[in-house]
Amino acid sequence: MVEGRKHRLSPSAWNRFETCPRMYWLSRQGLPKKAGMAASMGTAIHASIEDLLQIDLSGREPSESDWIFAEANSMLRKRWEEEKEVFHATPRHPNWKEEKFREAQKQQKGAINMLLDHVGIQGLSHERITVALWKKIQSLVIAVEGELVTEDGHLMGRLDLLLAIVDEKGSLTGWLVADLKTGRPPRGVLKPEVNRQLRMYRDILLSNNKTAPPVLAQGWYTDTSSKWDAKGENVLDSAYEAWNATKPTQTPLEPTPGQSSCGGFCDWKAWCPHWWSWRYENKSLHKGDFADGVVLLHQYDHDRSIATVEECVPANSSGSVQPTGQIRNVTFDGRGKEALESLLQDGHQGAIFLGSAMMNRDVWRVGSWCDVLPWAPIPDSGMS
Ligand code: SF4
Repeated sequence: MVEGRKHRLSPSAWNRFETCPRMYWLSRQGLPKKAGMAASMGTAIHASIEDLLQIDLSGREPSESDWIFAEANSMLRKRWEEEKEVFHATPRHPNWKEEKFREAQKQQKGAINMLLDHVGIQGLSHERITVALWKKIQSLVIAVEGELVTEDGHLMGRLDLLLAIVDEKGSLTGWLVADLKTGRPPRGVLKPEVNRQLRMYRDILLSNNKTAPPVLAQGWYTDTSSKWDAKGENVLDSAYEAWNATKPTQTPLEPTPGQSSCGGFCDWKAWCPHWWSWRYENKSLHKGDFADGVVLLHQYDHDRSIATVEECVPANSSGSVQPTGQIRNVTFDGRGKEALESLLQDGHQGAIFLGSAMMNRDVWRVGSWCDVLPWAPIPDSGMS
């Protein structure tokens, strides 16, 4: 199933391609998507900051203070509820963690601190943010949540904030692309993939605006209210190379199995035979907490939520299954149990993929964070 629409490359798709071309290819095949709490929380925080920057303050007393917390909180709550719905409508999702709302509030505050910093103010308690001060911040906003597309339509990016940089006299000296990041802040230096993403925003902006002032791109890490400059050459030539290499194909792109690709976050393992062969060959299959496996189900005790399964290993490089005779008990709970029971109700026959199960124990555990999916590896020759 190859998408029919015009081929465009975004920074996140480019990063996926660089991590593993097969991962990128699988992500374009319309397979069931996976939601995660961190990503949903990040989206809600982003949207709430964008709302706050677009709030209509006309007619309000410039000296009014102690207003921002209530507005920010209600915007965050609204976006949070929207994200919760999207999360639950996504076919593969773990449990929603309502308790994370407090963390989202903290991160939203971190973003507000960085906006204050942009107008030269540090350490101001949020009760003291006046309407006049927020209007000043708003006056420096050039774009919020803007889509950047190269003139040929091949490269795109969605920038969070484009802000004016002004000197003491208020004269424009540059543009700032600020990308809000709700993940873990860098240690010492921006990760190469984040640096590349920010430079892609910068360079698309510059290529579309020949008279643009100097453009600075920064990652704004809400957790620590720290700003990190993207540095380096123009990336557009490499981005076009990646665009060419990622054109839709019926045949899967090559896999690059390994610790930094399969061992990181790959949502598409249930459709990829290569992590399995790689783990089997390096003798790390079915080892460790949060490990992946392929099993045959022999029995399921619905009342006790315990299954008897047989461990399987690859019979060939296409992901055909070879049972090993090694029998295991596996407990299922939460979303993991729901997913298994729904597979059984649908009459699934054959091997099952268990993703991120706790295998460092005699009785394996499959919980809400786990994938339980039909094992349906797509061979290198493509889907039949
Ligand atoms: S499981 Fe590994 S080899 Fe397969 S698509 Fe994912 S990262 Fe690539």
